[in-house]
Amino acid sequence: MPSTNPSLVELRARGYRLTPQRLAILKILRDSGEHLTPLEIFHQAKQSLPGITEATVYRTLGFLTEQSLALAAHIGSGQLVYEIAENDHHHLICRSCGETAEIDHNLLQSLYEEFEARTGYRIDSIHQTFFGLCPGCRKDLFNQSSEGDNDPRDTPD
Ligand SMILES: [Zn+2]
Ligand SMILES: [Zn+2]
Repeated sequence: MPSTNPSLVELRARGYRLTPQRLAILKILRDSGEHLTPLEIFHQAKQSLPGITEATVYRTLGFLTEQSLALAAHIGSGQLVYEIAENDHHHLICRSCGETAEIDHNLLQSLYEEFEARTGYRIDSIHQTFFGLCPGCRKDLFNQSSEGDNDPRDTPD
Protein backbone atom coordinates (compact mmCIF):
# COMPACT_ATOMS: atom_id res chain seq x y z
CA MET A 1 0.00 0.00 0.00
CA PRO A 2 1.39 3.41 -0.92
CA SER A 3 1.63 5.73 2.06
CA THR A 4 -0.02 8.60 0.25
CA ASN A 5 -3.23 8.11 -1.60
CA PRO A 6 -5.15 10.52 -3.81
CA SER A 7 -7.92 11.15 -1.29
CA LEU A 8 -5.53 12.28 1.40
CA VAL A 9 -3.52 14.48 -0.91
CA GLU A 10 -6.78 15.96 -2.07
CA LEU A 11 -8.01 16.68 1.45
CA ARG A 12 -4.76 18.33 2.43
CA ALA A 13 -4.83 20.43 -0.73
CA ARG A 14 -8.30 21.66 0.24
CA GLY A 15 -6.95 22.70 3.61
CA TYR A 16 -8.71 20.06 5.70
CA ARG A 17 -7.15 18.41 8.67
CA LEU A 18 -6.49 14.72 8.42
CA THR A 19 -7.96 13.73 11.74
CA PRO A 20 -7.41 10.16 12.93
CA GLN A 21 -11.15 9.54 12.44
CA ARG A 22 -11.08 10.67 8.83
CA LEU A 23 -7.96 8.65 8.13
CA ALA A 24 -9.31 5.53 9.81
CA ILE A 25 -12.65 5.63 8.02
CA LEU A 26 -11.09 6.31 4.63
CA LYS A 27 -8.79 3.37 5.20
CA ILE A 28 -11.68 1.10 6.15
CA LEU A 29 -13.61 2.06 3.02
CA ARG A 30 -10.56 1.68 0.82
CA ASP A 31 -9.50 -1.67 2.26
CA SER A 32 -13.00 -3.07 2.06
CA GLY A 33 -13.75 -1.96 -1.49
CA GLU A 34 -17.37 -2.82 -0.77
CA HIS A 35 -20.49 -1.15 0.51
CA LEU A 36 -20.46 -0.85 4.27
CA THR A 37 -23.18 0.27 6.61
CA PRO A 38 -22.29 2.98 9.15
CA LEU A 39 -22.54 0.35 11.86
CA GLU A 40 -20.06 -1.94 10.13
CA ILE A 41 -17.72 1.02 9.73
CA PHE A 42 -18.16 1.90 13.39
CA HIS A 43 -17.23 -1.62 14.50
CA GLN A 44 -14.14 -1.67 12.31
CA ALA A 45 -13.10 1.85 13.35
CA LYS A 46 -13.25 0.89 17.02
CA GLN A 47 -10.42 -1.54 16.47
CA SER A 48 -7.95 1.25 15.70
CA LEU A 49 -9.75 4.05 17.58
CA PRO A 50 -11.36 2.49 20.66
CA GLY A 51 -12.80 5.83 21.77
CA ILE A 52 -14.66 6.61 18.56
CA THR A 53 -18.43 7.07 18.84
CA GLU A 54 -21.15 6.17 16.40
CA ALA A 55 -22.02 9.86 16.08
CA THR A 56 -18.45 10.63 15.02
CA VAL A 57 -18.64 7.90 12.40
CA TYR A 58 -21.83 9.41 10.97
CA ARG A 59 -20.37 12.91 11.01
CA THR A 60 -17.16 11.76 9.36
CA LEU A 61 -19.05 9.83 6.68
CA GLY A 62 -21.07 12.95 5.98
CA PHE A 63 -17.89 14.97 5.64
CA LEU A 64 -16.20 12.44 3.36
CA THR A 65 -19.29 12.25 1.18
CA GLU A 66 -19.47 16.04 0.90
CA GLN A 67 -15.84 16.04 -0.16
CA SER A 68 -16.60 13.38 -2.79
CA LEU A 69 -14.14 11.00 -1.18
CA ALA A 70 -16.84 8.57 -0.18
CA LEU A 71 -20.05 7.68 -1.94
CA ALA A 72 -23.33 7.07 -0.23
CA ALA A 73 -25.65 4.64 -1.95
CA HIS A 74 -29.21 3.51 -1.39
CA ILE A 75 -29.17 -0.14 -2.23
CA GLY A 76 -32.81 -0.96 -1.80
CA SER A 77 -32.62 -2.21 1.76
CA GLY A 78 -33.70 1.17 3.08
CA GLN A 79 -30.20 1.35 4.46
CA LEU A 80 -27.66 3.91 3.35
CA VAL A 81 -24.30 2.32 2.66
CA TYR A 82 -20.93 3.87 1.98
CA GLU A 83 -17.97 3.07 -0.20
CA ILE A 84 -14.76 4.70 -1.34
CA ALA A 85 -15.18 7.05 -4.29
CA GLU A 86 -12.64 5.75 -6.73
CA ASN A 87 -14.17 4.31 -9.82
CA ASP A 88 -17.34 5.81 -11.24
CA HIS A 89 -20.00 3.17 -11.31
CA HIS A 90 -23.69 2.45 -10.92
CA HIS A 91 -25.59 -0.32 -9.25
CA LEU A 92 -28.11 -2.85 -10.44
CA ILE A 93 -30.26 -4.45 -7.79
CA CYS A 94 -32.61 -7.35 -8.24
CA ARG A 95 -36.05 -6.52 -6.84
CA SER A 96 -36.77 -10.14 -6.24
CA CYS A 97 -33.70 -11.63 -4.55
CA GLY A 98 -31.67 -8.52 -3.73
CA GLU A 99 -28.61 -9.59 -5.71
CA THR A 100 -26.50 -6.64 -6.79
CA ALA A 101 -24.24 -5.98 -9.74
CA GLU A 102 -22.14 -3.00 -10.77
CA ILE A 103 -21.80 -1.34 -14.10
CA ASP A 104 -19.01 0.96 -15.10
CA HIS A 105 -19.95 4.58 -15.63
CA ASN A 106 -18.28 4.50 -19.07
CA LEU A 107 -21.31 2.59 -20.30
CA LEU A 108 -23.55 5.55 -19.47
CA GLN A 109 -21.11 8.32 -20.26
CA SER A 110 -22.66 9.21 -23.60
CA LEU A 111 -26.14 9.26 -22.05
CA TYR A 112 -24.91 11.70 -19.39
CA GLU A 113 -23.38 13.90 -22.05
CA GLU A 114 -26.67 13.86 -23.92
CA PHE A 115 -28.57 14.85 -20.76
CA GLU A 116 -26.16 17.67 -20.11
CA ALA A 117 -26.27 18.92 -23.67
CA ARG A 118 -30.07 18.94 -23.65
CA THR A 119 -30.59 20.48 -20.23
CA GLY A 120 -27.50 22.60 -19.65
CA TYR A 121 -27.02 20.83 -16.33
CA ARG A 122 -23.73 19.49 -15.12
CA ILE A 123 -24.63 16.12 -13.60
CA ASP A 124 -22.49 15.16 -10.64
CA SER A 125 -24.31 12.11 -9.38
CA ILE A 126 -22.17 9.40 -10.88
CA HIS A 127 -23.66 6.74 -8.67
CA GLN A 128 -27.11 5.58 -9.58
CA THR A 129 -29.11 2.58 -8.58
CA PHE A 130 -31.21 0.72 -11.12
CA PHE A 131 -33.74 -1.89 -10.10
CA GLY A 132 -34.78 -4.89 -12.11
CA LEU A 133 -34.76 -8.66 -12.18
CA CYS A 134 -31.47 -10.55 -12.22
CA PRO A 135 -30.90 -13.32 -14.78
CA GLY A 136 -31.69 -16.02 -12.20
CA CYS A 137 -35.01 -14.47 -11.17
CA ARG A 138 -35.98 -13.80 -14.76
CA LYS A 139 -35.47 -17.48 -15.47
CA ASP A 140 -37.60 -18.47 -12.45
CA LEU A 141 -40.34 -16.13 -13.55
CA PHE A 142 -40.26 -17.53 -17.05
CA ASN A 143 -40.44 -21.12 -15.77
CA GLN A 144 -43.40 -20.32 -13.52
CA SER A 145 -45.35 -18.48 -16.14
CA SER A 146 -44.85 -21.13 -18.81
CA GLU A 147 -46.24 -23.83 -16.50
CA GLY A 148 -49.31 -22.12 -15.10
CA ASP A 149 -52.51 -20.75 -16.54
CA ASN A 150 -51.40 -17.18 -16.21
CA ASP A 151 -48.94 -17.12 -19.03
CA PRO A 152 -48.70 -13.41 -19.82
CA ARG A 153 -48.54 -14.29 -23.51
CA ASP A 154 -52.11 -15.59 -23.32
CA THR A 155 -53.50 -12.41 -21.87
CA PRO A 156 -55.36 -10.43 -24.50
CA ASP A 157 -54.39 -6.81 -24.75
ZN1 LIG B 1 -21.47 2.03 -5.42
ZN1 LIG C 1 -32.77 -11.97 -8.45
